[in-house]
Amino acid sequence: MNFYKLLGVSENASVEEIKEAYRKLAKKYHPDISKNDSEKFKLITQAYKTLIDPEKRKLYDKSVKENSSLKRTLEKFLENLVVKDIKPDINRTLKLTLEEAYQGTIKKVRYKRVEECNNCSGTGISDKSRLKRCDLCNGKGYISYLNIKLPCVSCKTKGFTIENPCQLCEGKGLLENYIEKSIEIPAGIDEKEVLMLENAGNKIKGKIGNLYLKVKFYKHPKFKKKGLNLYKDIKIKKDSLPLYLNFYDLNGNLLSIRIPENTEDKETFLIKGRGFRDRKGNFGNLYIKVYLV
Ligand SMILES: [Zn+2]
Ligand SMILES: [Zn+2]
Repeated sequence: MNFYKLLGVSENASVEEIKEAYRKLAKKYHPDISKNDSEKFKLITQAYKTLIDPEKRKLYDKSVKENSSLKRTLEKFLENLVVKDIKPDINRTLKLTLEEAYQGTIKKVRYKRVEECNNCSGTGISDKSRLKRCDLCNGKGYISYLNIKLPCVSCKTKGFTIENPCQLCEGKGLLENYIEKSIEIPAGIDEKEVLMLENAGNKIKGKIGNLYLKVKFYKHPKFKKKGLNLYKDIKIKKDSLPLYLNFYDLNGNLLSIRIPENTEDKETFLIKGRGFRDRKGNFGNLYIKVYLV
C-alpha cells in the first residue's frame, strides 16, 4: 500500500498538506468514531508518522523507487521470456587457429538469420486468417498477478490469437534461414578484434542489421601466445644433448634449433621474429624454454 495514496496526497505534498489530510482521515476512521476501521486507522497513522518525519520520508521514497525499478526489471525479464526481443545486429564468436590468424585466410561462417516473413509482412496474418480475442488474458495481452504484469503466454502480449495463420511462417511473422558467408581474415588479426559484415544481420521492422564476429583463438597445441611473443616449453633428456629440435612455426616453415651440450635446466632460447605478428607486419619473438630431465 502506497502511503501517499493512503493519505490521498501527492508525492510532493508539503508537511502542512499531510497534516491536513491526516486530520480529516483521523476524524473519519478513529476507533472512537468507527469501530470497524481500527486496522485502517493504524495504517493511516503509520503513513502519517513516516511522511511527517523528513528522514523517514526520504527512506520511504527511496525504497518505493527501488521497488518499482525492481518491478520493472522483473516485468521486462518475464516479457523477454515470452516475447523474444530480436535485435537487427547479430553477434557471434569466430574461432581461429593461431596459424589462420598469422597467415590470414578465408573462413566460411554459417549462422542463423531472422527475416520478417514477406508473405504476411511480419504480422503472421494472411487473407484467410481470423483473429480471435485471447481467452487467457481477455484480450489485454497481460495478466496481473500479485501486482506484477505478467506477459500472456497464449497470445504473447498481442491480445489475440490467429486462426488459419500465414502458412509460410505459421503465424510467427518471422522466418529463420541459415546463411553461409565467406569472410576474409587479414594476416595478423588478434584476439578480441571484431569483424563486421555490413547488412548480414537480421531483417527486422524494415531494418537490416550487421553481423559482428568477435575473434577468439583456439588453444595452440605447441605455443602459448602473449602479445606478439610466443612461448614453448620443452622437456629434454640431459644425456641426449646436444640435439636438434625440429618444429614448424606459425607460417609453416620448419625450424631447426641446436640445443648444445652445456644447456642448463630452464635455459631459454630466443628465436627472433618467429613469434606472432600484427597487421602492420611487426613480428614478435619465439622463446623456447628447456627443461632438463
Ligand atoms: Zn493473451
Ligand atoms: Zn508469414
